[in-house]
Amino acid sequence: MSRKLPLALLLAVSLLAPGVAIAAPPNAFPAGSSGIGDPYFPLDGNGGYDVQHYDLDVSYDPDTDVLTGEATIVARATQNLGAFNLDFVGMRLRALTVNGVKAVTTRKGQELTVKPKTGITNGSQFTVVARYDGVPKTLEELGGAGFITTNDGAIVVGEPHVAELWFPVNNHPRDKASFTVAITVPLGVEAISNGILVSQQDSGDSSTWTWDAVEPMVPYLLTMGIGQFEVDAYEADGLAFWDAIDSNLVIGPPPIPPVTGDQLLFSQVADQGPSYKRLTRTLTVPAGGATLTFQVNRDTEEGWDFLLVESRTAGGDNWTTLPDQNGHTNQELGACPFFLFDNPFLTHYVTDTSDEGDPENPDDDEFSCAAGGTTGAWNAVYGQSDGWETWSVQLPPGSIEVSIAYASDCCVQGRGVGIDDIVVSTGEGSTSFEDDGNTLDGWTTPEAPEGSQPNPNTWIPALNIPPPTPLGDSVQVSFDRQPEIIAFLADMFGPYPFSAAGGIVDEVELGFALENQTRPVYSQFFFGDPAGNDFVVVHEIAHQWYGDSVAVDLWQYTWLNEGFATYAEWLWSEEEGFEDADDIFDAWMDIPAEEEEWWGFAIGDPGPDGLFAFQVYIRGALTLHALRQEVGDHDFFNILEEWAASQAGGTGSTQEFIDLAEDISREELSALFDMWLGPGKPVVDGPGPNRMPALRDMPAAAKTFVERNADKPGQPFKEAKGKGH
Ligand SMILES: [Zn+2]
Repeated sequence: MSRKLPLALLLAVSLLAPGVAIAAPPNAFPAGSSGIGDPYFPLDGNGGYDVQHYDLDVSYDPDTDVLTGEATIVARATQNLGAFNLDFVGMRLRALTVNGVKAVTTRKGQELTVKPKTGITNGSQFTVVARYDGVPKTLEELGGAGFITTNDGAIVVGEPHVAELWFPVNNHPRDKASFTVAITVPLGVEAISNGILVSQQDSGDSSTWTWDAVEPMVPYLLTMGIGQFEVDAYEADGLAFWDAIDSNLVIGPPPIPPVTGDQLLFSQVADQGPSYKRLTRTLTVPAGGATLTFQVNRDTEEGWDFLLVESRTAGGDNWTTLPDQNGHTNQELGACPFFLFDNPFLTHYVTDTSDEGDPENPDDDEFSCAAGGTTGAWNAVYGQSDGWETWSVQLPPGSIEVSIAYASDCCVQGRGVGIDDIVVSTGEGSTSFEDDGNTLDGWTTPEAPEGSQPNPNTWIPALNIPPPTPLGDSVQVSFDRQPEIIAFLADMFGPYPFSAAGGIVDEVELGFALENQTRPVYSQFFFGDPAGNDFVVVHEIAHQWYGDSVAVDLWQYTWLNEGFATYAEWLWSEEEGFEDADDIFDAWMDIPAEEEEWWGFAIGDPGPDGLFAFQVYIRGALTLHALRQEVGDHDFFNILEEWAASQAGGTGSTQEFIDLAEDISREELSALFDMWLGPGKPVVDGPGPNRMPALRDMPAAAKTFVERNADKPGQPFKEAKGKGH
């Protein structure tokens, strides 16, 4: 409630104390609300003011993970304010002033309440300076988000609750502001953020990197990457680019030397096709048995590529596998039965127990396997070893043919397998693979067994296990295409909305990429496949228009971000000569209406836990394609361009988008959007004018896009496990 003062009293007070703030009645300066009004997150953001600019001055010590900060926040009051809130989580607040005067602060949950000494008048600008320090929190969502410490620094990435982890903030898309971020780090460490690098100054044993993000930005889009990066600054098409790739990814891991001597035996990598490489020898084992020990250093694809020890009586059919007595083998079956198609010999050790179900219905197959095959047991291992490991295998008596075997499918491979220091307790066949005139000491490398394709390569003596091609090379290939991708998208969406661009890839177990304004952060795991890396870059750059320049007005509307960025990938797919948007649309529409989890979910109101559900991405893009089919290409691309132009620098809601689409198309579209954004599979009546015939192999096409299009890599972070370089 508000109350007017009698005119006479107002005059008297102002005459008595010109220019001095008046001690107002308590209710004339109420507290701003603790939330900005988002029903999904009632405490996100705050009421009563609008931030214009954040000036963050932080220093970070990679040794202790302690961040020390001074945040200067320039804001304008949108009501008389006796108190106001900021969002701030963790960290120790050391001091806070408003307009240079110490303020009273209290903290509860994510809310920092500031009571300035003097009330702030509606419309006036005020400055908050907060000093704080602490170790910022890492969030557990998506396998780690927020302020993430890395092996050589830290990276800040995630949404929606990240900014408050490292500075006091009005954290909601509705309050955009410009940012200046000065990051002080030890000398020799790089510090990357958004926008433009305005200075980099060394002082003693530290270095300060100052970044200016001049265009209004939602706070969660602020990133900070600290560590050893190769930074590439350049200009293209009038845009300033900063690309930062973790130095470790550029250099790649070092070669792995032998355990002893100068040589080891290396499997090589079969990235051209499947392989079944054996290292074989026949040994005469006495009645009491014998022990075969050897050193293994392995990096093979999880679930698909196995290392195993096979044995049979020489010339016999009693094939089996032998367990490692040190526990490195197990009975896990990984991607069985699929790897049996490449290497059917493995049915000696595993049994395909899949159930085809109705032979007429290819969708009801249940795939499964059991350990134990036609002649023997299953003892094998996939994945990465933690350095060299010692295997010890008990050999049965007799004339025994034993093979150390590496069976793989095609294409995705790790570094392969190194073997060294084979010791047989009888002495026969012991070898360290040295160049001594008898390198293999009787061991041979036979052809792949019956049913497998010929091996593209096989075991060779080598000086080391060579490093794989650095991931940074493949990141670079995609980063080099950024100007081209921006031009392609600008052609459809209108001018690129910002003055800077680029990307960050850190060596860290990150489960997603994020559209940080002007400088997206990508998980390294998007760049494993040399053919398919550009889609994620297209996705995050498309977000610069939809998500960043036009942010969501409420978190409920994430389909306006993710549907658009995903649809950009479909357009890029067509541009690149892969499936076109019609094909992709049809493939996803082949998912039966009974798939409740897929179609039952209302992407227009996904709930706070469903903001980034995969349905929001794909069905959001389906919604746009349905709109395109309804209104035709001309109106559709006008709508996209006008959406970016009319809401640039601000936020948008679903209703505003529908209104715009109706204005441009002059069609009534609310029924269409209700159908596509609500629960239930939409009904599509027949092929539209642009439609191609439906794809025959929907699962393959759909799978391709599951892998390519998600903000999350399609597979768990297998490459990172156990790597600590
Ligand atoms: Zn996205």
